[in-house]
Amino acid sequence: MLKVYNKSFRGTMEKDCLLKEEEPPSQGILQRFWPGVTTRQWNDWRWQQSNSLRSMQALTELLNLRPREASRYEELIWRYHYRITPYYLSLIDFDNPHDPIRRQCVPDINELDFQRVGHSDPLEEGEDTQVPGLVHRYPDRALAIVTSRCSMYCRHCTRKRMWHEGESFRTRDELAAMVDYIRREVGIREVIVSGGDPLTMNLQLLDWFLGELRTIPRLEVLRIGTRLPVVLPMGITDGLVQMLARHRPLWLNTQFNHPAEITPASIEACDKIIRAGIPVSNQSVLLRGVNDSVEVMKELCHALQRIMVRPYYLYQCDPVIGAEHFRTSIWKGIEIIEMMRGHTGGLCIPTFVVDAPGGGGKIPLQPFYLLSTSEDEVLLRNYEGTIIRYYNPGRSVGESGQDTGAQQTHRILAGTDITARYKRRRSKAALAH
Ligand SMILES: *Cc1c(COP(=O)(O)O)cnc(C)c1O
Repeated sequence: MLKVYNKSFRGTMEKDCLLKEEEPPSQGILQRFWPGVTTRQWNDWRWQQSNSLRSMQALTELLNLRPREASRYEELIWRYHYRITPYYLSLIDFDNPHDPIRRQCVPDINELDFQRVGHSDPLEEGEDTQVPGLVHRYPDRALAIVTSRCSMYCRHCTRKRMWHEGESFRTRDELAAMVDYIRREVGIREVIVSGGDPLTMNLQLLDWFLGELRTIPRLEVLRIGTRLPVVLPMGITDGLVQMLARHRPLWLNTQFNHPAEITPASIEACDKIIRAGIPVSNQSVLLRGVNDSVEVMKELCHALQRIMVRPYYLYQCDPVIGAEHFRTSIWKGIEIIEMMRGHTGGLCIPTFVVDAPGGGGKIPLQPFYLLSTSEDEVLLRNYEGTIIRYYNPGRSVGESGQDTGAQQTHRILAGTDITARYKRRRSKAALAH
């Protein structure tokens, strides 16, 4: 991979396209780090990028670290680097020690405490990598990891294993090798361009890569995975959006995890993308202490629907080394879906998925609505808890005439399957009376 230390990392395709100017917030912490920042600077992604926090010194100031604590944090950010844009930092409420934005971006000693729990590559993406950076797991789509760089390093990242590569980008030759592979593999109809964050790479190179992919007639759809609208919304410039729109049909997936991330700036960034004919969908990660409650998740999904960003997936947090403190029970995800389905609009309900360790792929989980089944009936329940017998036409179950579980269920439904155990329980109940 090519190491790039160049500050203007996205190249020269950009004109100065500012968002509707947003006043820089006047919180104390921002004044301390960037005294006298102008509105123009605040709304310029280049300023945001070059003023992002990433050093030990900045972390020491941010957390008021004493010398004894500092060495532990030094080890922490040596292992897992950090980067926070002034914009994303400004969303933190520093009076709240459990602030959900802070949990996602500020290095946490917990990351070192769980070094023996989890896997470095839980999804075994390494095993499914065909040419460097290209993960081909599902029959008809491939995932191109084009950079390890992000504008903000999520502390819960599933690709923490890549962080030791620093901030690097695939070279043009490596990208060309991916295109060759995709050209040869006749099954692929969709390519997901992700990272890292692909929108941090040189945009001429990204434009070229997407264009090369577009020369493959069989390739129907492109998808971009990026957190730029959430962590650096001023980076969604007119120039960038026009470039992406030239490669439609193209879908863009982002990652809002908390309603506090939905701000005037991030709304405008999404709106720009949507107006260019690029649908925006959202993949949240279920994170302990961030969004692991029905109330927060519902508020987030409602807010997303209002800004026309479709909730797509809710991910169970992967068992990745250094992120164990974010993981919740899978029942929490199921409970959230349970409390949404039927209670609110289907367009704002994501699919809860567990990405199976070992490369098993995404497995959707949802509450049990199908309680039982027989030859010609199923027993369902609805979102209110009402149990419903539903006539099921066609005899697909139990046709062989054997005493299948389904036939037994049928007798239970019909009230004719009085087993010895059932009788015993009934007689005991009778004795008790
Ligand atoms: C998540 C993922 C995809 C895309 O899956 P969808 O269900 O289509 O969103 C493709 N490839 C890999 C390796 C993935 O992890």
